[in-house]
Amino acid sequence: MNTQTTTLLIIGGGPGGYVAAIRAAQLGIATTLVEGAELGGTCLNIGCIPSKAMIHAADEFAKARDYAGDSPLGIRVQAPQIEIGKTVLWKDGIVGKLTGGVGALLKKNKVTVIKGWATIVDGKTVEVAQKEGALRISCQHLLMAPGSLPVGLPNMPFGGRVISSTEALSPATLPKRLVVVGAGYIGLELGTAYRKLGVDVSVVESVDRVLPAYDTELTKPVAASLKRLGINLHLGCTVQGLNAKGDAVRIRNTQGEESELPADQVLVAVGRRPRTEGWGMESLMLDMAGRSVKIDDQCRTSMRDVWAIGDVAGEPMLAHRAMAQGEMVAEIIAGKRRHFQPAAMPAVCFTDPEVVVVGKSPDEAQQAGLDCINASFPFAANGRAMTIESTDGFVRVVARRDNHLIVGWQAVGAGVSELSTAFSHSIEMGATLEDVGGTIHAHPTLGEAVQEAALRALGHALHI
Ligand code: FAD
Ligand code: NAD
Repeated sequence: MNTQTTTLLIIGGGPGGYVAAIRAAQLGIATTLVEGAELGGTCLNIGCIPSKAMIHAADEFAKARDYAGDSPLGIRVQAPQIEIGKTVLWKDGIVGKLTGGVGALLKKNKVTVIKGWATIVDGKTVEVAQKEGALRISCQHLLMAPGSLPVGLPNMPFGGRVISSTEALSPATLPKRLVVVGAGYIGLELGTAYRKLGVDVSVVESVDRVLPAYDTELTKPVAASLKRLGINLHLGCTVQGLNAKGDAVRIRNTQGEESELPADQVLVAVGRRPRTEGWGMESLMLDMAGRSVKIDDQCRTSMRDVWAIGDVAGEPMLAHRAMAQGEMVAEIIAGKRRHFQPAAMPAVCFTDPEVVVVGKSPDEAQQAGLDCINASFPFAANGRAMTIESTDGFVRVVARRDNHLIVGWQAVGAGVSELSTAFSHSIEMGATLEDVGGTIHAHPTLGEAVQEAALRALGHALHI
């Protein structure tokens, strides 16, 4: 058996693992990264990037279709068509550029990258199955970043026409009718994209509203847009499985009434589970937090010098969290003092309109025992929103009543994902309502709604 030794051994080359590897190597730590599939992990290959590419393509197609109707902008075009195979190739091109870039960065920083599936032998030893035989790597620090896997439904397992987001992101052809199970991030991002590509989409959600992780006020414009797009929502319904012919999904509502939704394809998007089994991790007998690996605020597990970051360490399963944890662990191993205690962890849902949350909502602030004020500014009163035909939605700020310290931002509207940067900065830097209200915001921009929300909370908004 071939053997190697290293200081830091990272399992998983997703955003958590590859960022940890780059930072560790920058700090002079001998680093080896093992990846069984493709560098970039879920995020670059089958998650964030490909989904946003497909959403963009669907948006452009829907726009062209709208122009072929009666455009108020006076634009006239012929009815457009879409070659989905070409769309997927374009998406794959972006994925290829980014994953190739990760490979180049790892090489530039002299990280040893090993292709193969790692199995943990003990807290300091890992075996990697390779064509040439097994490779045994021993290390001082073991960093686990294996990510997560889609959760399946026992009564409707993946296979055949029942697919996960992975297959939905690389369609060979578009189905005529798609049933989506789960009105969370993936279900609504991809369900909306498929609808805009011309597919007949129905969404089944067990809770009585869409995006139940967010507050109702925030998701109202999304629910209205789903309706406008012609997506059929079946809220408060449970899935019973496929019908006998296998061409429809049987659902049951809260009254116990059953019905069937015809489906050429069924996208199951009911959450993801940390990848904690099947690669020897169980043998370490680590403390767990439910289904995820338990970590402290330095991403240490219950075993000395064994670390865990990203989706394997539970919610929120977001790429930027995995990256931030990876960077931090590398710095701690290099001897720096770090703790993972972000004041702001942005979350964006790329629906139409987009939703952003950073920090605490009014309800969360109340539950945390904070006496807060909040104020919203609607995009209907924002000039830039009018010029891009997107006046749905608003920006809301939550701040402490006593000292006006901002503790949360929420927004829903076209393009608000880009406001998440300003939101995170203001919270992380301890800004008050006066700081944001007194900052000059460029005109005309959607960002003016951020300033106006702060001014409104102070009782003197200018444009409403
Ligand atoms: P991963 O990215 O899952 O990477 C883990 C890597 O480890 C994989 O490449 C895997 O092959 C490898 N691996 C696992 N086990 C082994 C082993 N034993 N040996 C060797 N290699 C192994 N998040 C956002 O923040 N924004 C978004 O817009 C967003 N969109 C998403 C859209 C979709 C459709 C999906 C599915 C997810 C999305 N996410 C998004 C979530 C995001 O992709 C994850 O939070 C992120 O990828 C987690 O990073 P990670 O490094 O923990 O794991
Ligand atoms: P999710 O947790 O966002 O949504 C799952 C939805 O399915 C929930 O609304 C839940 O109530 C519903 N549900 C659960 N069981 C059900 C059942 N049996 N029948 C009907 N509905 C059911 O999960 P997801 O959409 O699969 O996404 C997984 C994770 O990936 C997210 O939590 C997020 O961390 C990450 N992600 C992030 C982004 C982003 O940041 N923009 C995009 C996609 C995915």
